[in-house]
Amino acid sequence: MTDAVSDSAAGDAPPDRRARPQLTILLAGPRGFCAGVDRAILIVEKALEKFGAPVYVRHEIVHNRFVVESLEAKGAVFVKEVEDAPVDRPIVFSAHGVPKSVPDEARQRNMIYVDATCPLVSKVHREVERHHAQGRTIVLVGHAGHPEVEGTMGQLPPGSILLVEKPADVETLEVAPGAPLAYATQTTLSVDEAEASISALKRRFPDIAGPKQEDICYATTNRQASMRAVARRSDAVLVLGAPNSSNSNRLVDVAKDEGVDNALLIQRAAEIDWSRLRGVATLGLSAGASAPEVLVDEVIEACRARFDVTVEEEVTAVETIEFKLPRALVV
Ligand code: SF4
Repeated sequence: MTDAVSDSAAGDAPPDRRARPQLTILLAGPRGFCAGVDRAILIVEKALEKFGAPVYVRHEIVHNRFVVESLEAKGAVFVKEVEDAPVDRPIVFSAHGVPKSVPDEARQRNMIYVDATCPLVSKVHREVERHHAQGRTIVLVGHAGHPEVEGTMGQLPPGSILLVEKPADVETLEVAPGAPLAYATQTTLSVDEAEASISALKRRFPDIAGPKQEDICYATTNRQASMRAVARRSDAVLVLGAPNSSNSNRLVDVAKDEGVDNALLIQRAAEIDWSRLRGVATLGLSAGASAPEVLVDEVIEACRARFDVTVEEEVTAVETIEFKLPRALVV
């Protein structure tokens, strides 16, 4: 930390150009959109091209207001449930995945639907189905109420999946002695916290089956690793993301874990409390998997108005993954 920043520099009013204190912005790489979010947005855009507006979307396609509003401007209409959309318009299901009852309802209403569930979430759906078919009770490590968790639990009849949010929950799990068990995880958890819950499961149920490969997706893992590297060099951290975005919240947790108490989740540059950047020499900056790069640029520009900014990037992985579009939308 440095004390070189004046009150006005870190306050609301941009300081005189000559008086601007120096600030290094350390960008986490990778950050922002993942392949699943890219695909989900493209699915809505392609559906609008193919079917014309309006196209209905069940829930936020991804957890980001900016993305949702941009798609609304193009003709997408966001609804809570399938029944809120008219039967004669197509409906898209969000990247987080949906319970089986959702496409069932669309079919019953004779609606055209397109599933934008991320293929890495669909992989977890197939995994829990396979364990269920083999007679196992499934323990899902995840956050209650998150749409991905509701979608995964909704792949099987009620009671087939038990939810564990933290290691302590493992001790109170009620399972019949000797019942075959398997576990799966939400794709956007903190790698470290998920590992703690999985270790607790393996301790209590040594025979529990698990995925061959980690369920936490590559994008979550990579963003957390880059945030860790950035946080180690930063006085403060900003993460762009929505309050209901699991992977974005986990990036803030990782920064705090690395000792950066001044780590905040923001949705837009306008939310920055400049007084929190008083005395900050290096600001770590990242974005959750559903936050577009334009919002990162917006933060950098807002900083430039108050500081003499140098931008550096800390790249810990290079991502090349792309997912195919559903066949129905490929022209
Ligand atoms: Fe898919 Fe991971 Fe992106 Fe979620 S965060 S949409 S699981 S790639």
